[in-house]
Amino acid sequence: MNPTVTAVVALGSNLDDPEAHVKRAFADLARLPETWVTARSALYRTAPVGYADQPAFVNACARIETRLAPRALLDGLLAIERRHGRVRDVPNGPRTLDLDIVLYGGATIDGPGLSVPHPRAHERAFVLAPLVDVWPQAVIPGKGTARELLETIGMEGVQPLVIPAPDQGARGQASAAIHVGSRLRGNDDKRGNDDK
Ligand code: ADP
Ligand code: MG
Repeated sequence: MNPTVTAVVALGSNLDDPEAHVKRAFADLARLPETWVTARSALYRTAPVGYADQPAFVNACARIETRLAPRALLDGLLAIERRHGRVRDVPNGPRTLDLDIVLYGGATIDGPGLSVPHPRAHERAFVLAPLVDVWPQAVIPGKGTARELLETIGMEGVQPLVIPAPDQGARGQASAAIHVGSRLRGNDDKRGNDDK
């Protein structure tokens, strides 16, 4: 049996009710074989990067424990994307759902069709902010801690999505706003990525 590895999956959507796609995708991840979702980040509304003429994205990260090997995990993610109607046309273009492996333990993988850590994760606040939510001590191999990378880049274009608390009227909404998303466990651990 494969060992259990802590990994992080980045979720993104900017078509057909992005918030709903991302929330459903968290549930889909939990149904992957040999995989457990142990933390969900807040959802973030983010400005498109690379190809600006498209709707804003909703981004998030899931921390998982998995016994799937990296390629089996990627295959599982691509299958979920297809079930969400993902079509690949414009690079960095609009998508119903994008699922990327950001980290797989402390592993570095540089193979055809799979690069881990995700090659652009360290320079994207829309990945780093939710990554820090689910794994405050995360290290991106060869780049540094996610927290320090995020401090350097800043949060421009990345805003936590908030929803009004259920029993508040319009006047109370701003102060009563709560983060979407929840942390299920393990946000204050002091472990490094492969230290388990
Ligand atoms: P992007 O996520 O960069 O916008 P796509 O979602 O269209 O691009 O993915 C294109 C291909 O990137 C996937 O089919 C997959 O084989 C490859 N890929 C390489 N590394 C990763 C990774 N860490 N996570 C997900 N896909 C990856
Ligand atoms: Mg992708």
